[in-house]
Amino acid sequence: MTCVLRQPLEEHEVFATDLWRVIVNLNQNKLGKLMVCLMRHDEDICAPTDAELLELWNVIRKTKGILDSLFRPDRYNYSFLMNLDSHVHCTLFPATRPPAYLWAPTFMTPTISPRTD
Ligand SMILES: [Zn+2]
Repeated sequence: MTCVLRQPLEEHEVFATDLWRVIVNLNQNKLGKLMVCLMRHDEDICAPTDAELLELWNVIRKTKGILDSLFRPDRYNYSFLMNLDSHVHCTLFPATRPPAYLWAPTFMTPTISPRTD
């Protein structure tokens, strides 16, 4: 079985440790979206060893530092979704608040026509 996350294209790799690899998510619907992928193949997020979990948080911190210096996002969201790639990975979603005017509520009043029957 070919696992794309275990052997990504070299140009997609941001950096790697012995246990984790950070790659660019091809879906850039959030600018700077990256994935931290377990170096060995496993499909269960509960399976990483203590050493792998400790290293995961170190890798996430380093990744955040890189993204902070490049994009200065307001915050991050994280997910462990295995829907498309059945390989242990964490996706980092840099998030930026839209300009305030986009948060202003817009209320629409429906037009109600009087009955004519
Ligand atoms: Zn895999």
